[in-house]
Amino acid sequence: MNNRQLFLSHVAQTSPAPIGLEIVKAAGIKMWDVNGKEYIDLISGFSVCNIGHSNPKVIKAVKDQVDQYMHLIVYGEFIETPQVAYAKMLTDHLPASLNSVYFTNSGAEATEGAMKLAKRVTGRSKIIACNKAYHGSTQGALSVMGDEYWRNAFRPLLPDIFHYDYNSDTLINAVDDNTACVIVETVQAESGVNKPIPEWIKCVQKKCAEHGALLIFDEIQAGFGRTGSLWAFEQYDVVPDILLLGKALGGGMPLGAFIADIQLMNSLTTNPVLGHITTFGGHPVSCAAGMAAMKVLLQNNWIEEVKNKEQLFLRLLKHKKINTVRSAGLWLALEFDNLEICHRTINRCIERGVVSDWFLFAPNCMRIAPPLIITVEEIEKIAEIILLSID
Ligand code: PLP
Repeated sequence: MNNRQLFLSHVAQTSPAPIGLEIVKAAGIKMWDVNGKEYIDLISGFSVCNIGHSNPKVIKAVKDQVDQYMHLIVYGEFIETPQVAYAKMLTDHLPASLNSVYFTNSGAEATEGAMKLAKRVTGRSKIIACNKAYHGSTQGALSVMGDEYWRNAFRPLLPDIFHYDYNSDTLINAVDDNTACVIVETVQAESGVNKPIPEWIKCVQKKCAEHGALLIFDEIQAGFGRTGSLWAFEQYDVVPDILLLGKALGGGMPLGAFIADIQLMNSLTTNPVLGHITTFGGHPVSCAAGMAAMKVLLQNNWIEEVKNKEQLFLRLLKHKKINTVRSAGLWLALEFDNLEICHRTINRCIERGVVSDWFLFAPNCMRIAPPLIITVEEIEKIAEIILLSID
């Protein structure tokens, strides 16, 4: 059996049509398959490799940490320098109230932890989430996922969860004294890059504060410069009670986090003690990699360049079959009439060496989310290939 057959036989499949490329090397914005064919990455691991693949400083940080130690003990018992240093660095770049970091294995686990924290702090169970939201695939995170097609087969899920449209007044009106938290993405990712109306997100926060409900922002895809600022929420002048990070947080290694004020976070230490337990959360190698990646991101001017690169894509990507382009920094959704045109276009792009895909709740939209290091020349080349691939 070749690797493709082994992949299909022994690696559990959840997609009826996996992209199925066999990549043997990745560096910068490029990947190479087993036959030596070169691809440009327009997915970035869904916003994981914002600084590009295989950054030498990240590789060195991983190697150095591996030489020191890997896993020592369940999260939170020993003082592990990579966690401490990274938590300090993150909180130095966040508003003062987001000063305590709980590192997890993944984004979904960060969602789980944040929901538990909100229940624990408020003593309430009602949770408000958005239609077309994605916060992870475990059962708690699935309960707040905004699509009945994916939820239904796994019911019963968590009770007391209510979904409303992103940017809707109905969501704001639903926040009451029974609400533990409202969870929203700062840019809704899988509906095909939908930005919040700034006034709406401010009103959500105000309503939460009035009723003692916690506001959770999911920046798992939107964070680390993707939208043109380090955190997307900076653009709305609203600070959440709990922030969720993941994806680029680990610099290519698995890592998530929920971040809150220490006063809130301390509620996980009593009644019960060990309110959230994780063996590998905050793995020292992941923290070392993530911190190195964040340093590289901040030392370069990629974030400042995001808006100009976004505008360039918007200027170049004009075609009669592209109905609209929604964008939030270097994160664009090209909307076609239907999923057939979109998928055909994506397949042709892949044949021409440009890897993209569609969005979970918007299969008629093509994803453009390259590493932020992409150059003007590369954008021009990619736009040409995309336009040529539209059928
Ligand atoms: N939240 C958002 C916005 C995401 O895009 C994702 C993953 O795609 C998650 C949460 C879940 O993260 P993970 O896949 O690391 O569990």
